[in-house]
Amino acid sequence: MTRLERQSFLGANSENILRGATVGIVGAGGGGSHMVQQFAHMGIGGYVIADPDFIEDTNTNRLIGGTLDDVLAARPKVDIAARLIRGLQPDARIVLVPGKWQDAVDDFKQCDVIVGAVDSFKDRDELERFARKHLIPYVDIGMDVHTIGAAGYLVTGQVILSMPGEPCLRCCGLITDERLAQEAQRYGAAGSRPQVVWSNGALASTAVSIVTQILTPWFKGPPVFVFLDYDGNKGSITPNKRMVMLKGCGCTHHPLDEAGDPLFDIRTQPFHPRPKASKVVGPAIMKPWWWRAWDWLWR
Ligand SMILES: [Zn+2]
Repeated sequence: MTRLERQSFLGANSENILRGATVGIVGAGGGGSHMVQQFAHMGIGGYVIADPDFIEDTNTNRLIGGTLDDVLAARPKVDIAARLIRGLQPDARIVLVPGKWQDAVDDFKQCDVIVGAVDSFKDRDELERFARKHLIPYVDIGMDVHTIGAAGYLVTGQVILSMPGEPCLRCCGLITDERLAQEAQRYGAAGSRPQVVWSNGALASTAVSIVTQILTPWFKGPPVFVFLDYDGNKGSITPNKRMVMLKGCGCTHHPLDEAGDPLFDIRTQPFHPRPKASKVVGPAIMKPWWWRAWDWLWR
């Protein structure tokens, strides 16, 4: 019996898969700290966590694991994340990047999946491009608060799963050249955007469920492209219309031939002799006669 017994429906080998998995978390603030906490609870073994910030008192309305003592100590957000993980997974493999994620691309390349809870469209754009280039699934979350005049405020958000070859953040309309240009223009002048713990929690939980579907799917046919809208006023998370429209569509923004590590060099890879093939090679009846003859002659 293990502490993960109640999630055994994820599969007989799920505990080992989760322990062997490495997740990349970019942004250990409001959204990222929720995901860190949930990944630790569910038994993820490896973490690469990037955030350049230190906790401040205005973060304590939402930063999971952060305390007032941490504010006094001006503790880096990545250290708070590591402490949260160690409390549940003492043997976790943790790489902390107290800076930009771009400073640790070699570590992020090793991740099985990357989640992004970042503020800027530029960061999202670069992160998605990086993940696709290295054939790593990328899950993006974000929230916003809009004024709706006399009616008050509207809390919104989105969760997107971006996989190589599938629709991307640009296909979804989340990233546009106009938004990137506007963001670059007001760089440094933008005030702090509103953030609350409960909407971050809803979005982060949804993202963690998508990561779990990728690592240890508990039903047949887990999705390869997800675009969900969060409406914090209604309390709903529903498929965006584009999720239906774009289903099965390829992405022209990130052609598949751009995928793959441009620095990969087979000559520098260690030599692993091919393991001796087992006689049992699957249901032979499914193979054509010439394939079976080849198997018989060769083995
Ligand atoms: Zn696209």
